[in-house]
Amino acid sequence: MTLLELKDVSVHYGRIQALRDISFSVEEGEIVSLIGANGAGKTTTMRTISGLLNPSAGSITFDGQDITKMKAHIRVVNGISQAPEGRGIFPGMTVLENLDMGTFGLKSKEGVPESLERVFSLFPRLEERKKQLGGTMSGGEQQMLAIGRALMSQPRVLLLDEPSMGLAPQFIRQIFSIIKEINEQGTTILLVEQNANQALARAHRAFVLETGEITKSGTGKELLADPSIKEAYLGVG
Ligand code: ATP
Repeated sequence: MTLLELKDVSVHYGRIQALRDISFSVEEGEIVSLIGANGAGKTTTMRTISGLLNPSAGSITFDGQDITKMKAHIRVVNGISQAPEGRGIFPGMTVLENLDMGTFGLKSKEGVPESLERVFSLFPRLEERKKQLGGTMSGGEQQMLAIGRALMSQPRVLLLDEPSMGLAPQFIRQIFSIIKEINEQGTTILLVEQNANQALARAHRAFVLETGEITKSGTGKELLADPSIKEAYLGVG
């Protein structure tokens, strides 16, 4: 079943066009990766899906419903949750308070203890440090906290913007294996990454974004083996 679908989506910042007629879909249960260089439009795509940016043309459908004009906080309640680039945690709040912010606006808090248990079992470090201030955690721990917070609303699709950014190699491997585990537990994942190697290796399907346009698509394996992708994106990492 198609869970998320973008059709001919364009986004402008004033007169600058950041996305040009982007179309792609995410099936329920998939990990889909969007790879691309700096400035290709990856973050713009994520922020458009989460409702922080408005498209100038095109439509977004989620679970069969047109959400193009739906407000961001309503999208969260409906099952779209984003762990933003640069982590965006609240440095002056404890780990537990940060996680609680992920439940903001939910109609029912019934599922919250279960979500917290899930987050702590995925990230035992967050449970150990639950009373610590977010801002005093390491980069890797803050990344875990951002993902954990996004999971607190029990999303059907989790949007991850550069989860490996700035992390040491052992944390990068760990984050990607946890992303796979989250997916195996039933959460659909859309992942944006510059670390193309890991992002393609873990993805069911992937798309390449270049200056606001999708230029390639295929299974993760197909794109990993594609010589032009190897040359452009797989040199490092
Ligand atoms: P990065 O990995 O560097 O974040 P990206 O692929 O996520 O890159 P975007 O941040 O989506 O790329 O940016 C896409 C294009 O839109 C770039 O050309 C960028 O300069 C432009 N852009 C992004 N944000 C703004 C803004 N607030 N105002 C004007 N232009 C912007």
